[in-house]
Amino acid sequence: MIIAGVDIGNNTTEVALAKLDGDEVRFLASGISSTTGIKGTPQNVEGVRHALEDAVRKANLILKDVELLRINEATPVISDIAMEAITETIITESTMIGHNPATPGGVGMGVGVTIPIFELEKCSPGEEVIVVIPKNVDYEDAAKMINRALSKGVEVRGAIVQKDDGVLIANRLERKIPIVDEVKQIEKVPLGMLACIEVAEPGYTIKTLSNPYGIASVFNLTSEETKNIVPVARALIGNRSAVVIKTPKGEVQERKIPAGTLIIKGENRTLTVDIEEGAEAIMSAVEGMWPLVDAEGTPGTNVGGLIARIKETMADVTGQESSNIRIQDILAVDTLVQQKVRGGIAEEFSSEDAVALAAMVKSSKLPMEKVAQKIEQEIGIPVEIAGIEANMAVLGALTTPGTELPVAILDLGGGSTDAALMTKNGEVRSVHLAGAGEMVNMLIGTELGIEDKYLVEDIKKYPVCKVESLFSIRLEDGTVRFFEEPLDPKTFARVCLLKEGELLPLPPQLSMEKVVAVRRNAKRKVFVTNALRALSKVAPAGNIRLIDFVVMVGGSALDFEVPEMISDTLAGYGVVAGRGNIRGTEGPRNAVATGLVLSRCKRK
Ligand code: ADP
Ligand code: MG
Repeated sequence: MIIAGVDIGNNTTEVALAKLDGDEVRFLASGISSTTGIKGTPQNVEGVRHALEDAVRKANLILKDVELLRINEATPVISDIAMEAITETIITESTMIGHNPATPGGVGMGVGVTIPIFELEKCSPGEEVIVVIPKNVDYEDAAKMINRALSKGVEVRGAIVQKDDGVLIANRLERKIPIVDEVKQIEKVPLGMLACIEVAEPGYTIKTLSNPYGIASVFNLTSEETKNIVPVARALIGNRSAVVIKTPKGEVQERKIPAGTLIIKGENRTLTVDIEEGAEAIMSAVEGMWPLVDAEGTPGTNVGGLIARIKETMADVTGQESSNIRIQDILAVDTLVQQKVRGGIAEEFSSEDAVALAAMVKSSKLPMEKVAQKIEQEIGIPVEIAGIEANMAVLGALTTPGTELPVAILDLGGGSTDAALMTKNGEVRSVHLAGAGEMVNMLIGTELGIEDKYLVEDIKKYPVCKVESLFSIRLEDGTVRFFEEPLDPKTFARVCLLKEGELLPLPPQLSMEKVVAVRRNAKRKVFVTNALRALSKVAPAGNIRLIDFVVMVGGSALDFEVPEMISDTLAGYGVVAGRGNIRGTEGPRNAVATGLVLSRCKRK
């Protein structure tokens, strides 16, 4: 008899095709497809069909040869993610111009008093000034005026330009001075004030104005004033050029935005946490209240919206009232978002602190009978609803060579991170936690400022390199790799992804160090955190040290660095952990589908 185990996941539908001969089972092939629709809904049929067709084709069979499908009693977990900025930089009087014009002029640092360019004639020799050039002054004229002043002995230390003329002016000057251009609201630049301009060499970023002590030494600030300038310095990090102007009343504030409140309900108590307290405070509340009974967010905020949205989705799927749906877990992670500085004059952006949240709901039961009926109708193969997903996953994971009971598995998926522990006598304890592959994508996307979700997925999956010459690239670990044939010229001097033997250039503003740091941090903050949380909830007496072996399965266990990060951390607890290799051939995928087949023969 030919049967197929079918695992309908939130992201992926997987099939294990096998031939049963009495007690003997022979696996024929595996199939995979994206899940269509939300898990547990009749729209899943298309994905099931694709995955089945994929498997039968590989086994040289046709769909009609399959006599029985086994789908799992899917754990009804749905997760969703959202983000909330919790700080905002506001400039109440213009004190800072920090932006990245494409082509600032000149290079270096200059300090002087801001004056309109027309007043250069009135300056006396030795006076140190920074000229402000509005858009009605032509670059030729501007250069002439500056050169004339320089020859008179006026110390022109820099220029702030409204148009995109920085380079044109710089090329016509007798002395090299730093020039910041494209300052749109030039009329807001305060005049008669001490200012500092910094322009870095191409390929470098500014060093003095992005450092609070740098600003302090330029302007002779007291320690109290230095404290107040920190948000300015922070907003300027990573720029090629910047201006900081010292105004008597100028003030830059970093303000906390009320981001809403999470109400976390435990079995006997309810706790409220303000989102602006950050991830650590939220997670210590969640862990302190575990297991959660429910959670709510302030209406009208992102948190409120996030929680309402996932409750509604689950209500739709299960046909229950959304007031009956309960939040079972929350993962909060600190992150950064790029936001426009309020009160800035050249569209400055600043990295603001934010909190990313993943939340998960579990309803009593997904309507899998409906899905089963629909599959029978449309595909014409009898369907059996088999055991619990976590048990199936353990059965499948145990086909990894070298494993035996007791064993724990970590299922690293897209929406949730699951753990299950099976004891020597086959009892299983399992847990589902919010936050997995999709949350990693969200963190990478927002921290790098990339909206294209396919590109974000690629940045997660592939290492980066820098093309250093037409015949060589530098890899993340610093080693150089040479090529016989010249590389594609459009990759030259670019940071690229090493995707399946090809070089895929990334947006030019991204440095290799930044991509690597953001990517690894995102993975660690989600998967290492959740691996520890999940294992401690299934471990005997809540003690991870009492677990001997952990097998990692699921799509995110294919990651080129996540399993190593988790193994390294677990090694500190004396736990041996590794990526699963289902049936010795499938890698970390197909555990649940394989378990569904095996549980059928075990039953007989
Ligand atoms: P589910 O069981 O919820 O359907 P999967 O086990 O299919 O989920 O895992 C889906 C997740 O795996 C997605 O977040 C996807 O980005 C991630 N993933 C798939 N392949 C890779 C890979 N090669 N490297 C890193 N992550 C991967
Ligand atoms: Mg899964």
